[in-house]
Amino acid sequence: MSPDEFRAAGHAAVDWIADYLEGIEEHPVLCPLEPGAVRRRLPASPPEEGEPFDALLADLDRVIVPGLTHWQSPSFFGYFPSNTSPPAILGDLLCAGLGVQGMLWATSPACTELESLVMDWLVQALSLPDAFLTTSKGGGVIQDTASSAVLTALHVARERAGGARKLPRLMIYTSTQAHSSVAKGAKVAGFHPQQIRAIEVDDSLAMRPDALRVAMAVDAASGKLPCFVCATVGTTSTTALDPVPEIARATQEHGAWLHVDGAYAGSAAICPELRFVNAGLEHADSYCFNPHKWLLTNFDCTCFWVRDRAPLLEAMSILPEYLRNAATESGAVIDYRDWHVPLGRRFRALKLWAVMRCYGLSGMQAHVRRHVSLAQTFAGWLDGHERFERIGEVPLGLVCFRHVGGNESTEALRDHLNASGELYLTHTKVGDDLLLRMAIGGRLTEESHVRAAWDQMVAWSEANP
Ligand SMILES: *Cc1c(COP(=O)(O)O)cnc(C)c1O
Repeated sequence: MSPDEFRAAGHAAVDWIADYLEGIEEHPVLCPLEPGAVRRRLPASPPEEGEPFDALLADLDRVIVPGLTHWQSPSFFGYFPSNTSPPAILGDLLCAGLGVQGMLWATSPACTELESLVMDWLVQALSLPDAFLTTSKGGGVIQDTASSAVLTALHVARERAGGARKLPRLMIYTSTQAHSSVAKGAKVAGFHPQQIRAIEVDDSLAMRPDALRVAMAVDAASGKLPCFVCATVGTTSTTALDPVPEIARATQEHGAWLHVDGAYAGSAAICPELRFVNAGLEHADSYCFNPHKWLLTNFDCTCFWVRDRAPLLEAMSILPEYLRNAATESGAVIDYRDWHVPLGRRFRALKLWAVMRCYGLSGMQAHVRRHVSLAQTFAGWLDGHERFERIGEVPLGLVCFRHVGGNESTEALRDHLNASGELYLTHTKVGDDLLLRMAIGGRLTEESHVRAAWDQMVAWSEANP
């Protein structure tokens, strides 16, 4: 591809994306295809000779788009949102265009320094503890996912507690509602499943600090070493909020590491009135949230902070001869390869920088506020209807509910809604109850989309009394 061909194809690709986003409501939200349907429509072997880029764009329309579930649709209410935005899309494109490796400060100083800057901007924007600032003892790094963040935290906690030598005695605590990435991270970090205690939750599905205290005391009394506690702010199932201040006090008594997982809910702190999600963070050893969920930034973008970077660097640093350089040896720079598992890293800060500059704090606040307000509206509709039962609180953008007919009716309702192609939502289970989750957080989601979903629900309930 010559520079001129690249320019033409590049313009065509951006036009294609703009058209896709403008027309996104024309597609069924949930992909209706059977397994294998996409692959069957594409050649089994690569082309012998190069093809024009246009041919690829044509196949996007013909084969790929029909094989997608449209996560950016304003009527996508499943899981949690996975926001993108035009500035972030362009930031990712620029990242690809520059193609730098930011593993060390020396391999591209701007890649490191912009990342430290946007992470420090976020500390201010979200009103996070000052200790998280790069200019302080701690600091932040962009990782790929919250799963990698909790794995990193587990690794540091394990090393700090004595590493492989002590591993068989080390214990992990998290609630029964914690994300599966905690158990997965523990597995990768070499823990046996019996080294994880799933702490009971209260009626709001938040971790019970008294139960945590008891579990840690019982373990300590039998010679085990409480090593790591993961609290969740905004659980995946129902956005329950673990009481971090009380959990922190219990954790500190045993000198364990406290990681706070705010993957979805952390974005809410952009709004001053929603900063209850930050309660107790000043006691967290590490914290993460995902701008790639609710803060307008394309996947992948997880922000991970530590209160003190010394144990992180201690656990992660390895310096082979071929990476030695004067800047690293001077101690005056950050080398982000020491802040996560991979060595190589791309320039992810560009997309966050683009989002923060193009939206400004006020634009990001408006985005989050709209969803929180729509979730309240939807909850109000549920509360006023005798065939639906809202379950739990609605602190942010997620509303859980069920049909009064029970699990079978609730499941039938879900399947009916999703088969319509006009919206998509997913379920969870609390105890024996199947609940539907209406996660309102799309960049393009307006009240009309929530209203259309509601109208469909009501119509179904009237047809199925
Ligand atoms: C979504 C989610 C995760 C996992 O996020 P990834 O970035 O995909 O690894 C972890 N914890 C919670 C609470 C989540 O909601």
